[in-house]
Amino acid sequence: MRRMFLGNSDMVDLVDLRHRLHRRPEISGEERETAATIVAFLEPTGPDRIVTQLGGHGVAAIYEGAEPGPTVMVRCELDALPIEEISTSDHRSEIPGKGHLCGHDGHMAIIAGLARGLARNRPRRGRAVLLFQPAEETGAGAAAVIADPAFAGIAPDYAFSLHNRPGVPVGHARISEGAANCASRGIKIVLTGETSHASTPHHARSPAPAIAELIPALTALGPGGEIDADFRLVTVTHVAIGEPAFGITPGHGELWATLRTLNDAQMGALCEAAEALAREVAGRSRLDVAMSYHDVFHHCENDAEAVALLRKAMDEENVPHGPTAPSRGSEDFGLFGRKAKAAMFLLGSGDTAHLHNPDYDFPDDAIAPGARVLMRALRNLLGEAART
Ligand SMILES: [Zn+2]
Ligand SMILES: [Zn+2]
Repeated sequence: MRRMFLGNSDMVDLVDLRHRLHRRPEISGEERETAATIVAFLEPTGPDRIVTQLGGHGVAAIYEGAEPGPTVMVRCELDALPIEEISTSDHRSEIPGKGHLCGHDGHMAIIAGLARGLARNRPRRGRAVLLFQPAEETGAGAAAVIADPAFAGIAPDYAFSLHNRPGVPVGHARISEGAANCASRGIKIVLTGETSHASTPHHARSPAPAIAELIPALTALGPGGEIDADFRLVTVTHVAIGEPAFGITPGHGELWATLRTLNDAQMGALCEAAEALAREVAGRSRLDVAMSYHDVFHHCENDAEAVALLRKAMDEENVPHGPTAPSRGSEDFGLFGRKAKAAMFLLGSGDTAHLHNPDYDFPDDAIAPGARVLMRALRNLLGEAART
């Protein structure tokens, strides 16, 4: 086995960093303090450049090699979730209603570990870019980073990322070529009719019957229960009708649902089906209907060469790995795959609560294997200058 590039004191610092981040979760687009904590950790590692305010609160640290070579980017996420954490750990969230319940605090600790390695041995050629991306949970962050003029100065040839996966043993990994994460998007259906006195509902055009009909009908556009080969899934996430009052027949309603498919092409057909259904039901109830899309995630595809590089790194680091089916969950990392040879792997987080569960907490023991795999992939592409 190769020597671990992180020593015991590094591990103490990385666990401490994760716990500090975990206590102070910030949701998508609001990651100001998180970004500052990351910059404070990165500065002593002496990167050639730190880019801040990248696509929002994004941070990128750049470590140059002396010889020409590829740019290799490793990406993690800054954001937490608007969910109240119920854990009783010492590092539980101090912010009411917000929690690091997707493990992005662990991902940040892993990438911060790479900074320690790069500080001691710069790349021999090319350059390493450590990207701390904002707003992954809403699907807005990767697009904003790519659209930021400063990203043109990063222009990665390779992009790697990971996501922790409950149910896979800690220290194990999963990866496959091709489809890695589903496409998804939220559809907001707004129905407008006319109110009346609650004693004369026949004078109103209420959205209540239409919404009652749309909930099962939209859900049935997916196969229900077990997912099909196209990964079609419709999840109703929010419904509102009228006002909280007893005297008014409602004249306004909203239904929010998340549409999910294996890839972007299939998403077009599912959107058409959902829109046609909403129009038909609204028409029968004499309601005006307006539809809009939110939190749009494109599907995520793993490049075969990038996957081979990660598998080689896993083998060399003795991290057991196997294939995986595409994740139902969406990931905006897929957008980097249009700019670079990109791949994301799943890192086991063991027998824990599910992601986004109020009791989820990234296991500290998963920091080292995640960091070892990514460091090895960086070294294999960029080489290693003598210790500075
Ligand atoms: Zn998440
Ligand atoms: Zn996540």
